Amino acid sequence: MDVPKVAPRSALSELSSLLDSPEITALVTELEETRWTGRPGYPIRAMVGMALVKSLYAIPTWSRTARLVAEHPTLQATLGCCPSVYACYRFTEKLRTFKPMLDACVARVVGSLAEAEPEYGRDVAIDASDMPAYANGQRFVSKGGRERSDDEFSDPDASWGHRSAVSTRKGGGFYGYRLHASVCVETGLPVAWQVETASTNESMFTAPLIDTARAHGLAVETASMDKGYDLERVYSECSERSCQPIIPLRQTQRVKNGEHKPPTCEHGEWRFAGSDYNRNAAKWRCPTGECKPASRWVKADRLHPLIPRETLRWRGLYRKRASVEREFGRLKHEWALSPLRVRGIERVRLHADLTILAKLACALARARAVPLAA
Ligand SMILES: [Zn+2]
Repeated sequence: MDVPKVAPRSALSELSSLLDSPEITALVTELEETRWTGRPGYPIRAMVGMALVKSLYAIPTWSRTARLVAEHPTLQATLGCCPSVYACYRFTEKLRTFKPMLDACVARVVGSLAEAEPEYGRDVAIDASDMPAYANGQRFVSKGGRERSDDEFSDPDASWGHRSAVSTRKGGGFYGYRLHASVCVETGLPVAWQVETASTNESMFTAPLIDTARAHGLAVETASMDKGYDLERVYSECSERSCQPIIPLRQTQRVKNGEHKPPTCEHGEWRFAGSDYNRNAAKWRCPTGECKPASRWVKADRLHPLIPRETLRWRGLYRKRASVEREFGRLKHEWALSPLRVRGIERVRLHADLTILAKLACALARARAVPLAA
């Protein structure tokens, strides 16, 4: 394998600052208290370090991660040892057992990021991205050939999903999983995420993603999504969570009938005059004020959101929706989120958690060194 003999300084110094951060140190301590030590007894700090190395250097497999460390004395010095690839496998199995500790670590990092950068998580974009399985989804070995055995099919949790052909994505089917995520449009950082099998409908995850962010202490004020989420249910789920949906309209019959348009009178089209979030209604005014009454409240729903689609604010927020697609790209290409090299939904989830945790912990370390806004 062609690897540089000297590890890049930035990733190396990042590794030690991550391992020494209070959020990661707490994970190491909690795992140590389970009194589990991997054979042949590598320290847990080193094993957590291996997981960080894998993401920091965007390495798809544990075998290549172990080899990289074996070839770099500087990395070994930071980790304190040179763990074997088998120790890495055992460690990930153990981490799945102690998943609540990893979840708590993610919560600490997200909470600390929100303290360091108050804008983090206020306006988010929600979307789903495909993660093709490390398996073959074809039922037959070849066209007209024999049927594959379950063994060859090899990932029982993966399923066929469809990329919706909205926005900039290409449509089409794929076999595997979907990463549902909310990403902060200001910082470009993930706020909450969830891996599900590919056949799940993306609109089912808006509410859980907002709930996770709220559980971590973030008040999500707006969430922009593409047309795939333009369902009455998604609007009410957002509204119940004091979050304003920013979603373009599909051409449903009511939209064709023009029911989404602002009220009009003989003086022209009425103007938006502010929303009352407690009242859950938007105020619209006669353009000349001659009508009696000159204004009225329109209750919020899919056709009449509290941040109306006619406003600059709506357009500005929707334009920033692209940040979620950019972040999916960065996670996949710069942080080795894909291609998947594990099978089974629990392992895929752990892989996504470790990848995004490493990315957020790096962002936190940088925010502490230099505030993001500076
Ligand atoms: Zn009027």
